[in-house]
Amino acid sequence: MHRRTRRATPVAILVAFLAPALLGAQITAVQPDHPAVKRALDGIKAQNAWMLTQQVQLCEIPAPPFKERARGEEFRKRIAALGYPQARIDSVGNVVTEIAGAGGGPTVMLAGHLDTVFPEGTVVTVKREGDKFTAPGIGDDCRGLAVVLSVAKAMKEGAVRTNGKVILVANVGEEGPGNLRGVRYLFNSSYRGKIDYFMSVDGLGLHVTSRAVGSKRYSVQFTGPGGHSYGAFGMPSAIHAMGRAIANIGDLQVPAGAKTTYNVGIVKGGTSVNTISPDGTMDVDMRSENVDNLEKMDALIKDAIARGLAAENARWPKSPAKIAVHYDTIGIRPVGKVAQTDSTPMVRVAGDLVKALGEPVLPSGAGSTDANIPMSLGIPAITIGGGARGGDAHAITEWFEDTPNGYKGPQWALLLVASLAGIGRTVTP
Ligand SMILES: [Zn+2]
Repeated sequence: MHRRTRRATPVAILVAFLAPALLGAQITAVQPDHPAVKRALDGIKAQNAWMLTQQVQLCEIPAPPFKERARGEEFRKRIAALGYPQARIDSVGNVVTEIAGAGGGPTVMLAGHLDTVFPEGTVVTVKREGDKFTAPGIGDDCRGLAVVLSVAKAMKEGAVRTNGKVILVANVGEEGPGNLRGVRYLFNSSYRGKIDYFMSVDGLGLHVTSRAVGSKRYSVQFTGPGGHSYGAFGMPSAIHAMGRAIANIGDLQVPAGAKTTYNVGIVKGGTSVNTISPDGTMDVDMRSENVDNLEKMDALIKDAIARGLAAENARWPKSPAKIAVHYDTIGIRPVGKVAQTDSTPMVRVAGDLVKALGEPVLPSGAGSTDANIPMSLGIPAITIGGGARGGDAHAITEWFEDTPNGYKGPQWALLLVASLAGIGRTVTP
């Protein structure tokens, strides 16, 4: 069956071209028995083993933060070989493949991320036992990359022609230090104002992330002159100031309402056991889905640090030495501009399509992913799982296990792309 026939009124056409209006726009879930879609879905099921091979082979190319180039080039080669010679690598390292639409539909971007959290030198050889694969990055996000490739292959071989343009992406910089720079570039520069719907494939199973957990991360440096621990005793210490600040942070009460968190994750500093420390650095992370809570938390953290600093300097009033504090922002992930819920059209359609695939619909959740960027701009965006199952993401023991319904992950992604971009719409004059 084709996408439900409807009269294309001038208003409907206008709405289709106004991105912010799309948040409320109706989306019709494409039916899995639409002829081209059915060919593509069958293709995805039949090419499951091929897809797993892509997942494994891409995973065996290291892709530490800021060093995604080799994996990106390989991804570009592979997608080009599927019949997309137009695939290109943009100026920040994203692999971008535009597939022209028949016209008159929204532009949809589907992305998986190239980068991992693992530093250079991490062994990325994939161990396979039956349907279980173990390797750092095998799920997060080599699964996402493989899903994008599988969708590309199935669209080509099934001759799926959507109304709107489809842009398939393997992007850089999703993980912590990357600070979403790949998708930030796409939405702020190369495709500014041109994307109507965004989906990233990140994580496993058939879950939807529809709300953006925002975060702020600082590297906070305490500095002072330092001195001999015996000879110069009586002067403030950078490490002592930092310790007081951490104790204050540890006592903070988070704002009420939306879940809000804080963490001091890394501390460094000092010269030797008998040196009054001239330096101390701590990395602090705070998160919330609510922009006001995130701002409140930010103010509370800064106040806790200021009090720690003041207490340490006040502790040694006769000392001319003073400790100073300096903040470096190491990451900002924005919260959503518009609250997306399970009844937001894009989220609802994602659920309808899971149902169409015969699987249970899970309530959508909150997360911190590439979708934070479009969400912060009010552009409808979700992150979807790539099917199957796994665990230990961000650990070298990360594992992925294909399940009998694992192929439904890429099928779901394809159905979403076709539903959002529109397909086979009959326009009644
Ligand atoms: Zn990821």
